[in-house]
Amino acid sequence: CLWLVLEATELALHWHNFNHNHKSVALSGLALPKAILEKLRNDPQTITLASTDYGRIVQENPYGVFFPVTGNDIAGLIQFMYGSPVLLDIAARGQGHCVRGQALVENGVVVNMTSLGGFGQKASRIVVSKTSPLGPYADVGAEQLWIDVLHATMQKGFSPVSWTDYLHITVGGTLSNAGISGQTFRFGPQISNVHELDVVTGKGELLTCSPTNNPELFYSVLGGLGQFGIITRARIALAPTPTKVKWVRMLYTNFSSFTSDQEFLISKSNGPDYVEGLLLLQLNTADNSSFYPIADQPKISSLVSQYGIVYVLEVVKYYDQQSSSSIDQEVEKLLKGLSFEVGMKFIKEASYEEFLDRVHTDEVALRALGLWDVSHPWLNLFIPKSRIADFDSGVFRGIIQKRNLTSGVFLIYPMLKNKWNERTSAVIPNEDLFYTAAFLFSSGFKDWEAFDAHNRDILKFCEEAGIEVKQYLPHFETQKDWINHFGRKWSVFRQRKAMFDPKKLLSPGQKIFN
Ligand code: FAD
Repeated sequence: CLWLVLEATELALHWHNFNHNHKSVALSGLALPKAILEKLRNDPQTITLASTDYGRIVQENPYGVFFPVTGNDIAGLIQFMYGSPVLLDIAARGQGHCVRGQALVENGVVVNMTSLGGFGQKASRIVVSKTSPLGPYADVGAEQLWIDVLHATMQKGFSPVSWTDYLHITVGGTLSNAGISGQTFRFGPQISNVHELDVVTGKGELLTCSPTNNPELFYSVLGGLGQFGIITRARIALAPTPTKVKWVRMLYTNFSSFTSDQEFLISKSNGPDYVEGLLLLQLNTADNSSFYPIADQPKISSLVSQYGIVYVLEVVKYYDQQSSSSIDQEVEKLLKGLSFEVGMKFIKEASYEEFLDRVHTDEVALRALGLWDVSHPWLNLFIPKSRIADFDSGVFRGIIQKRNLTSGVFLIYPMLKNKWNERTSAVIPNEDLFYTAAFLFSSGFKDWEAFDAHNRDILKFCEEAGIEVKQYLPHFETQKDWINHFGRKWSVFRQRKAMFDPKKLLSPGQKIFN
């Protein structure tokens, strides 16, 4: 957090200096209007900050970084570039927390979304409406972090229902992908929980869109990888907020029992509020041991050594003061009959906020060790349920366990297709139930390529075994691979590009059209 504040302050200072010292810089021979110049910076420090991302794998230097205060500032920038004979690409940057250069732009303009609203006035860009025909909602600036949305909405007694595991990323950034976590099976991804958007298209039009107003733009942008417009505001669905959670982990040594229980849990009508799963490959780091009582850790370690992989089913049930007297019985009833290893069920209580912001706790610890700002060769996949057992034997057992890849976090949990809207740009497998698997390798700066080679082997195994996986937060090097990724959605995706960003100015770092 401190780092983010420092960075924002630093950027604010540079912006201030820029305004005073560089009133008429010509960028790459372009005669830029004063209104754009005033908000554009190209000093080395700003360029460096915008030239890489959380992955620290790709580096691309922009010509300049644009600091908009309003959506109209972004519209002005895009209108100018759209009409200019020299085309400069434009990439919105939320927190730059993607890992493969998706928010970068070589020799173009990065739009620093975090300056929207002006420095110091962020709070006014989250407005809660408690009553409406749509139900409660929040109008939120696309630059807002989900953690700030959580705080602002909880103050009014509400909160969003669909989350990501990590909340220090922007609303616009996750809506451009999908936004998934352990709540997705129940509420759908974040893109299924949006009523309305303000978007600046690739022609520079600032439009409001929803399922009934400019619906084509609305569905294009959701999961649209930044290809059709820059989101400046989102209307997010809310529900009355819980205040506490019962957080349970159960250990399995049999993959089939583990997935059967996950599937059983997500099928229950009054079931859990969150279901995820993770691989336990060793028990010697703070983040994967702190959940378990010290007295139980020798037994858990011996399960890991005996079986190589222990599968951890993670379940959460929310509650508040009113339901607190019955929560223990409810959880007991929910977990009755599950096939976890005898005695291997662990329950923790936490506040709703502490639970949702759990990855930030890891972030703080990793930052202290200098292990946060390293390379992140991550791979996220969606796998059809019909092939999940083959995926386990070929990938978890065949690659992760055999190669002793213990450095990182590996997630596996189920979702339901009927919670995803087919009209959005997001791509999922064509089965009613599918799993997400995340390979969140931690590497140093020098060895990311070795981890990436494992990622390639995972993809190669799936291809050779005929497992039709889809990448989430996708990354491809060729258009042929993108066409294959989108499958039957490709022609619509391409038509939408021609409609909303015909000069292909936006988010070139995705490398779909550029
Ligand atoms: P950026 O990385 O800055 O941008 C991502 C893409 O969206 C770029 O192409 C960019 O040009 C475009 N973009 C950004 N803002 C806008 C906008 N306003 N309008 C249009 N396009 C825009 N994701 C999940 O779904 N679930 C998780 O549990 C999850 N956990 C994560 C944990 C960590 C530690 C990290 C680092 C990431 C995690 N993510 C997760 C991935 C996250 O959703 C992506 O990184 C996403 O890109 C959001 O990051 P950002 O706001 O920094 O966007």
